Amino acid sequence: MKGLITTCSECQTNTELREITVQFERKGIKAAMSGIPAMVCPRCGQEYVPSDIAGDVIDTVSRTIDATEALLKRTDHRRRELLQDHQGLAPERLELALASR
Ligand SMILES: [Zn+2]
Repeated sequence: MKGLITTCSECQTNTELREITVQFERKGIKAAMSGIPAMVCPRCGQEYVPSDIAGDVIDTVSRTIDATEALLKRTDHRRRELLQDHQGLAPERLELALASR
């Protein structure tokens, strides 16, 4: 397939096409996106996401994290009000998981 890295640059093993999950953490917000096609080295585990897909994923996750930060700010007071009487529930915590299916 065009543009795909078929040999691992770390250990020269042939890579395999797989679906991977990429985790991001920015501004204290964690996001994980799964179902991303990538060439993966079966020996050392190095992952090569095609650059066009990687760019789109990073753009989308960045916008999603920005929107999540805005949501956190907007709902901060109300979430604290709802959760303050419940030990173990942390109102400053909100995690995102994005998946293709
Ligand atoms: Zn390798």
